[in-house]
Amino acid sequence: MTPRPSPLHVAIVGAGIVGLAHAVAALDAGHRVTVVEQDSAAVTASVRNFGHACVSVQAGEIGELAVRAREIWLGLIERAGLEARVSGTLAVARSAAEAAVLEDLAARDTAMPSELLTGEAAGRVLGTAGSAAEPVAGLLLPNDLTANPRTAVARIAAWVDAHERGEVRFATTATAVETGVLTTSRGAIRADRIVVAAGHLLGRLLPGTAETGEVRECALQMTRVVAPAGLALGPAVLTGTSMLRYGAFAGPAAEALRAEILRDRPELLEIGANVMFTQQQDGTLLVGDSHEDFDSAPPFMHERWSRILLDEAARVLGLGSGADFDVLERWQGVYATSARQDLLVESPIDGVTAVAVTTGVGMTVGLALGERVVSGF
Ligand SMILES: Cc1cc2nc3c(=O)[nH]c(=O)nc-3n(C[C@H](O)[C@H](O)[C@H](O)COP(=O)(O)OP(=O)(O)OC[C@H]3O[C@@H](n4cnc5c(N)ncnc54)[C@H](O)[C@@H]3O)c2cc1C
Repeated sequence: MTPRPSPLHVAIVGAGIVGLAHAVAALDAGHRVTVVEQDSAAVTASVRNFGHACVSVQAGEIGELAVRAREIWLGLIERAGLEARVSGTLAVARSAAEAAVLEDLAARDTAMPSELLTGEAAGRVLGTAGSAAEPVAGLLLPNDLTANPRTAVARIAAWVDAHERGEVRFATTATAVETGVLTTSRGAIRADRIVVAAGHLLGRLLPGTAETGEVRECALQMTRVVAPAGLALGPAVLTGTSMLRYGAFAGPAAEALRAEILRDRPELLEIGANVMFTQQQDGTLLVGDSHEDFDSAPPFMHERWSRILLDEAARVLGLGSGADFDVLERWQGVYATSARQDLLVESPIDGVTAVAVTTGVGMTVGLALGERVVSGF
């Protein structure tokens, strides 16, 4: 009989989705877990996003991880009491070029199902059927998830902390890492394995790893608005600029669309727009987003960029302009990005693994990436 591997003590830096993904996987594998988080609650990328696990529009390795992460999300809805639902995603086409991209994806053999919709059917979801804003076509991706990003990681952290082998120490900053020892602002933690899941702050603890991995900061602008009266969206909504960003859409049709947007709406490319929105349980819409890369993201947000994003979302919903939205909040989000790879998994020191999702899909794939890393312990 093969002996059961002995449980390890796994120390994890970061209580964002990636750090907690490792915590959940390590607990499920029978290990003991200590998570340290510098803030008194996670307040960076994992709470500033759309809460959208956009599984169906990923491709390749990211797509495979996304499919597995979806199963873990579904389990955590039960186990950790997450506010998350199978919302699906509606990709909306408002030109023939956009419709061609959707038809292209619908015709492919993909891991997740999709259903082409007429413009009228897509318009019924958006409340624009029969109006001048009715789309040309839509693609419904029924399996995607929408979570409340403001509560999701807090609830997973609470679940980890309540586990008999789990602990989360907030307001505790990791200051140094070496084989077997994580030094923190509240003393040293001895551990068999250490995971550094510090997001865009990876370089503070492991500067060489961040430099070699070409990790930079991508700053995004987001807004929360009151939804137009009576709007009850099921799915998350993606638009033409989303079709330029996600791997499953890639191909000649997407390149033709890029040329169309460059010609007709160059400002959308200038701000790196991915115009999309999700509706939260309280009815409000999370609307975004723009993308701009830096070594260190300055805190200043471009008001013009916010207007461009809101105007575009307003058009999709048949409103006159973004000024018709009642804006409740604006914020900047920052995630780790890299021109070198989409997923950074490096072991710069024996027993220490640095993990970062270096493209903007950590909510979609993070849970499965953690499981994959922990299975290698
Ligand atoms: C505006 C926006 C929209 C997005 N939309 C989506 C989306 O729709 N779908 C999707 O899949 N992804 C989306 N993303 C990307 C996703 O949010 C990120 O990929 C993901 O949250 C990264 O998770 P993380 O745990 O690596 O980083 P973070 O959430 O940033 O967590 C890292 C944690 O580590 C802590 N930390 C850092 N250094 C230390 C230290 N030395 N000691 C202790 N703690 C430390 C930080 O305080 C932080 O809490 C979006 C991101 C943004 C910003």
